[in-house]
Order: sequence, then C-alpha cells, then structure tokens
Amino acid sequence: MTKILVIEDEDSVRSNIMELLDAEDFDAIEADNGRYGVQLAREESPDLILCDVMMPQLDGYGVLSELRKDPVTAIIPFIFLTAKASRTDWRQGMELGADDYLTKPFSRDELLCAIATRLKKQNAVEQRYSSRTKELEAQLNQLLNTDEITGLPNQRQLRSRLHQIAEEFARNGDRDKLVPIVCVDIDRFNRINESLGPSNGDRLLRAIASRLATCIGSEDFIARLSADQFALILNPVEREDAAANIPQILLNSLSIPFIINGQEIFLSASIGISLYPRDGTEIDTPIAHAETAMFAAREQGGNQYEFYRPQLQISAPERLTLETNLRYAIEREEFEVYYQPQVNLSSGQIIGAEALVRWQHPERGIISPASFIPLAEETGLIIPLGEWVLKTACLQAKAWRDTGFDPLRIAVNLSGRQFSQSQLKQRLIEILEQTELEAQWLELELTETMVVQNIDATIARFQEIRELGIQVSIDDFGTGYSSLSYLQKLPFDTLKIDRCFVRELSSNPKNAALTEAILQMARSLNLQTIAEGVETDTELKFLCEHHCNAMQGYLYSRPLPAQEFQKLLDGGKRLPIP
Ligand code: C2E
Ligand code: CA
Ligand code: CA
Repeated sequence: MTKILVIEDEDSVRSNIMELLDAEDFDAIEADNGRYGVQLAREESPDLILCDVMMPQLDGYGVLSELRKDPVTAIIPFIFLTAKASRTDWRQGMELGADDYLTKPFSRDELLCAIATRLKKQNAVEQRYSSRTKELEAQLNQLLNTDEITGLPNQRQLRSRLHQIAEEFARNGDRDKLVPIVCVDIDRFNRINESLGPSNGDRLLRAIASRLATCIGSEDFIARLSADQFALILNPVEREDAAANIPQILLNSLSIPFIINGQEIFLSASIGISLYPRDGTEIDTPIAHAETAMFAAREQGGNQYEFYRPQLQISAPERLTLETNLRYAIEREEFEVYYQPQVNLSSGQIIGAEALVRWQHPERGIISPASFIPLAEETGLIIPLGEWVLKTACLQAKAWRDTGFDPLRIAVNLSGRQFSQSQLKQRLIEILEQTELEAQWLELELTETMVVQNIDATIARFQEIRELGIQVSIDDFGTGYSSLSYLQKLPFDTLKIDRCFVRELSSNPKNAALTEAILQMARSLNLQTIAEGVETDTELKFLCEHHCNAMQGYLYSRPLPAQEFQKLLDGGKRLPIP
C-alpha cells in the first residue's frame, strides 16, 4: 500500500485530507507539527509527503531542508500545501527541492492528481535507477570475482564460497561431513615462467587451469589464488582418506607434458589439503591450513600431496612476547595516534583526518598496526586499545575544532570486536560526552568483512550509530567477500575505495574499470566516496574525472603526529586539483 505522510498543524484541514486519503486506500499517517513530521518521515519512509508551509516552530521549508540532508529521506516526493501563493514563496519551495505546490483550498481531484503524477514519476525514476544499479552491480561483481588471466574465480570468490559453506553447515549441522580444501602450487613455476616470457606464461597458466578443471566434478569449485597457486573446494567426504583420491588424480594429470609454442613443458605440483570444519571454521583458516600443508609437500621435494596436521604449524615464541608486550603497552603509554588528512577533491582543502594508531615499541621502534592489530583483535586487547584511540582522536578533533578548523571530521577505525560488543552505543555516548566532541564530527570506519556476519543485527547496529549523529563509512571497500546487494541494505554515508583499486589506475585497465564502476554505483546510491592510497597525479586526475568526492594518500600527506598535522592545518596547504 502506498504510504503518505501528512504534516499539517490545523486539525480540521489535516483530518479532511486524512479522510480523503483513507477513502482512496492510501496508508495515510499524520503529524501535527514539523518536528514530529521529520521524525515520522525517518522512521516510516513514506512514499510521498504532503506538508503545510506555515507551522509554528519548524515550518514547511525547515522540514524540507531537514529531509534533504539524509539520502534516504531526500528522495521522497514532497508536495507543499499552502494558503500563501506568492511567486517568491513558490520559488523558495521549489529551490529547496519541493516537487509540487498546492494552494489551499484545493479540490479533491487537484490533490489526487498531484499525488498520482508524483508517484508515477517517482516510480519511473526508481525503476531506471534500480536497473542501472543492477547493471553496475553485475559488472562490478564480474570484475571483482574473476581472475583475468584464466577466467577462473579468484580469491575473493573462493572466500565467498567458503562463507556460503559455513552458513550451510550452521544450518544443517552436518556433523560427520568434511569439505576438502585443496591448495595446488606449481613447482618451480617462476623459473618456467621466466624462460617462456610473459605471454606464453599466461598461456601455460590457462592450460593448467583447464587441465585442473577437467579433473574435478561439476559441483567442485576451482579458483586461482595467486600467480601459480590454485585452490579447489571439493564435494564433502566422510573420512580423510576419501579425500586423497583427487590430489593424486591432479598430480597424474599435471605430469602429462604441456605443449606451449611447440615446446614440451614438464610440470609437477605440491598439494596441501585441509578439511572443513575439522581444521578450523574461520573463513581464512582452511585456506591457510591447506597452504601450510602445501608448503610441507613442497619442502619434501614437491610432486606430492600432504594433509594438514597441527604439528605442521611452526611454533611462535615471537608472537608470545609480542602479546605480553602488547598487554602492557597501553599502561606504558607506548601508543600514539597519527592523523592522515582527507582532502576534498573540489576545493583541494582538508576536510577530515583518519586516526591511525602507532606503537612505539621501546626496543623495536615503530611497529605497524598491520602487525599488531590482528593480534590485539585475537586477544581481546583491541577493546581497551580501540577505546583509547577513539578517545584520543575525539579529544584531538575537539581541540582542532576549537581553534577554528571548521569542517574537520575525524575518522576512527572500529575493529570487529568493538563493533559487536553489546555496550557499543553506551561507550560511544560516554566518549562523546567526556571529550565534548559533537557527534557529527566523528566518523567510524567499518570494513565490509565485519558486517556480513549477521545482516539484520548489523543494520540495527548501523542505525544505532547513525542515530547518535555519528557518520559511518565502509572501509577497504571491494576487498571483502560480501555481495554488493548486501551492502546496499546498510545505512552508511561514505564508501572508502581500497588502495588496491587506486593503485596503478593508469596502467591497469581492470583497476580503472573497477574504480569507475564503484564510483558510478556510489553516486547512484547517493553515497560519498573517498579514495585511499592516492600516490600519483595520474591517479588523482582519474579520480577527479570520475567525480570521486575526496582522497587520502601520500600524494597529499602521510599519516602525521598531531603536532605536524596541526602545522598542515595552520599552513592551509591545498591540493592542486587537476
Ligand atoms: P586502513 O584503515 O586501510 O588504513 C589505511 C592504511 O593505508 C594506513 O596504514 C595508511 O598509512 C596507509 N596509506 C595511506 N595512504 C597511503 C598511500 O598513499 N600509499 C600507501 N602505500 N599506503 C597508504 P597503517 O597506518 O599502517 O594502518 C594499517 C591498518 O591498520 C589500517 O588500514 C587499519 O585497518 C588498521 N588500523 C590502524 N589504526 C587502527 C585503529 O586505531 N583501530 C583499528 N581497529 N585498526 C587500525
Ligand atoms: Ca581505515
Ligand atoms: Ca582502508
């Protein structure tokens, strides 16, 4: 049923309209003042809004400009009802983005006709928009999920397949089934590749791919992981030895010489096998374990297969010391937050900063977060560490705002554990209160991988955060394995395009196509975009030409300690926009 929101302070007029709409089978909802109208529009997402202009407190213009701020409510057709009808009033409404203007008193037919026209137009727009979005999504998925050289699924699609399997297992509770994950690495491939040259090397890879594919069943899955590494997911078995069949068939098949350019090439491979869920249930563990087993096969001379066993794992005394050190590092104040500027691509000016933590280890010097964040995540230390970063960054943002740097918003990375902790909302409220930073100047960066676990819970989480007034961005976009249609359901403000797509924009046509498609899709979904890791002028030019909103990267500045960042702000350094 079509839902129509009526915002009108005069009771008689409002109930008149409500009656009329009810009679026409619309699902009509009402608000008797502007504030409540805005709230209802957000909560109920009506298909159309009828709104009086003159109301106490928040008038119709105020309502409309509130609604235009939020991408979700901005697109709802909006019709003004008014007794005023001067040309300037009319223009003011239209400039704010009203779709129509009805002068009171209006007839039943005038009202219904205005509603029908707007709904019809909105429908057409939505249809065009959704078919274009679908097209872009399909194109993006194709680019994101396949390996260019062999046309096989790539690592991303492999992970998505594993994710699917995990979900099936959770649903069906298949206790005695084991899914073999097989990792195949071609022995001495680099040397062969060098002697063949790049284009023949690619031909050989394609030949290997199709030979591997002929060895497996139609329900098995094969992907290319990296240069000379392939991964297979086979049909479930009941016992380990039942999984030994295929690896032997793969080895036999690869031992038949390949003919490339009339030249005979002899190959062998090292194969590792892990079994899901026996050898670990996290998405990446079965692949990592199959790789560990594959390395063991290679160390024994190659041309053989090996099953994963926990003993193959190297012991990690190094990890242990790091972990102990990490526990004390917060107390010892060894962490520091660096800030990397985010620059608007129309004005060339700093509009924000991403807070990036650094660990100043007393003996080892600066340790990159890439190596200790995963450890902190595993051990749970990320919760106190993450909160410390959040608080420090908010305090800093507040201080900078107080000195007059106006549009500056601080972006803070939130880890998976922080995101799913039950007191997240409460903690955020407390930190904002303690630091006195207004919520709108804080943005939380969430990665797509941490949001796919439970979509409904995630949507609710996002809403909670946004209701506080905090912005949300999706970090490392494109590197996870969630489907794009999944992401479309999430309410967020900004899409961060990962460095791996921005890199080589000029020399790598696939990256250029991907970035372009991502930017187009973001625009059609009304999202802001920010490109990460921009290092060259060519990359910058491409991004500007394709209407990316903002950039972050060494081209403008590396992440800096607070004091140095402040100097950048003081100096008003601008990025020259091509
Ligand atoms: P990220 O969120 O994707 O952060 C961007 C990373 O790219 C940063 O690495 C940044 O220094 C680097 N980068 C920025 N511009 C360029 C460029 O032009 N070229 C190159 N090559 N790199 C660039 P960093 O600081 O080492 O952080 C690595 C990752 O550690 C971050 O990736 C983020 O996932 C995590 N991390 C950092 N600080 C925090 C934190 O406070 N909390 C949590 N949960 N994670 C954090
Ligand atoms: Ca980030
Ligand atoms: Ca990122």
